[in-house]
Amino acid sequence: MHELSIAYSLVELALEESEKRGVRQLRAVYLKLGVLSGVIKESLQFCFDVVVQGTPAEGAELIVEDVPVVVYCPECQEERALPEPLPMRCPVCGTRTAEVLHGREVELYGLEGEEGDGKYASDCRDQTERAQEERSFGGGITRAFP
Ligand SMILES: [Zn+2]
Repeated sequence: MHELSIAYSLVELALEESEKRGVRQLRAVYLKLGVLSGVIKESLQFCFDVVVQGTPAEGAELIVEDVPVVVYCPECQEERALPEPLPMRCPVCGTRTAEVLHGREVELYGLEGEEGDGKYASDCRDQTERAQEERSFGGGITRAFP
């Protein structure tokens, strides 16, 4: 039950984060999920729905963004996104590479909820250039917030 323990960590982290930000009703949790993370998205979503029951995050939606594998090609000296996780070779020149830059992440990157009477939204997608705080969390979840 790998996904269940990840779902627990994710909900715990999301609640901790929303408390810090004064969010009352959490509506959505945004997660980046690498295709090499070994986490099954459907299973994680199912577990998430179970775990949030009875918590302040009950009813919140888990929105998963799939992250493709990005490798570094030593031949092209470029980052290359792979259309499929395997084989790990440069899609342009065919050189084999094991240098994976993206695709393993399980990363909480945004929350959406309500604060008092007003709307609250935290979406870090456009803020990647800001300094990011990253922290490893149980189950391999990383938090990336500005
Ligand atoms: Zn190449």
